[in-house]
Amino acid sequence: QAKARGGGRYAFFDVELRERVQRHMVLEQDLRHAVRQDQLWVAYQPVVDLRTDRAVAVEGLLRWTHPLHGVVSPGEFIPLAEESDLINSIGAHMLHTATRRIAAERPWLDLKLNANLSPRQLEDPDLQGIVQGALAESGLPARALCLEITESAIMQDPAAAARVLHSLRELGVCLAIDDFGTGHSSLAQLRRLPLDILKIDRSFVTDLADSDELRIIVGSIITMAHALGLTVAAEGIETEEQLAALRDLGCDQGQGYHLGGPVADGMPTGR
Ligand code: C2E
Ligand code: MG
Ligand code: MG
Ligand code: MG
Repeated sequence: QAKARGGGRYAFFDVELRERVQRHMVLEQDLRHAVRQDQLWVAYQPVVDLRTDRAVAVEGLLRWTHPLHGVVSPGEFIPLAEESDLINSIGAHMLHTATRRIAAERPWLDLKLNANLSPRQLEDPDLQGIVQGALAESGLPARALCLEITESAIMQDPAAAARVLHSLRELGVCLAIDDFGTGHSSLAQLRRLPLDILKIDRSFVTDLADSDELRIIVGSIITMAHALGLTVAAEGIETEEQLAALRDLGCDQGQGYHLGGPVADGMPTGR
């Protein structure tokens, strides 16, 4: 009896697992067509200079309008793309689309483009060529492109990441470490990387206004980053209190719903 129940339990989990795997495979198939069928698009979120209140850059954030499921977030489909090797073609498509768009705005707006690179893209031996290709095709100057790499991606293989970052730096692009504070890197490791911007992860900003402890932690991250010659940006600013706290701590740039969310059309013109 107990054995039969046990069997049933396993059978139940098997069905769940099978459904999950099937959904996964279907979505992966769909993603394969998404680039060709033009279902991927880029939303742009302003990055604001906290001293002048002006947008100095926009971060390009990938979106997928699925014919059945509607807009799928990158948190869902980027991991799928990473597993299936689609990330390299999707990443290249994203770079071409976004650099073209920002190059077209630049005669009027002095904006930089921030674009995210995934861990798998860092492993692509053609990455430097892909970035160079997007710059050449769009006419966007290299200094107007900032590539964001997460701290955890760098920490997967710091030596390899350092080589890739140096190869990108040769192109003249700016480099940012994204989601800082979540990836266990050390000062000594950061010092050896050719970085320009450090983006403090949203999780540090959320409770900033009500926690003296967090204020001290974020304050020391900013001091440390400045000592390394880095510009500091904070992610996920949702309230005036968080914004004021970050200004007090000397944070250089900010991004978040309070300053402007990601939008499909239109570019920030300052506040
Ligand atoms: P990220 O690079 O850290 O981007 C910031 C994320 O925070 C974005 O989510 C943005 O919409 C969201 N966000 C901005 N302001 C706020 C705020 O005030 N509050 C909250 N709660 N969230 C805020 P999104 O667009 O869903 O992107 C999630 C992640 O997906 C990105 O995190 C990035 O790691 C990845 N991603 C997005 N586009 C691309 C891409 O083109 N290539 C790669 N490889 N990854 C991408
Ligand atoms: Mg980012
Ligand atoms: Mg981030
Ligand atoms: Mg983040």
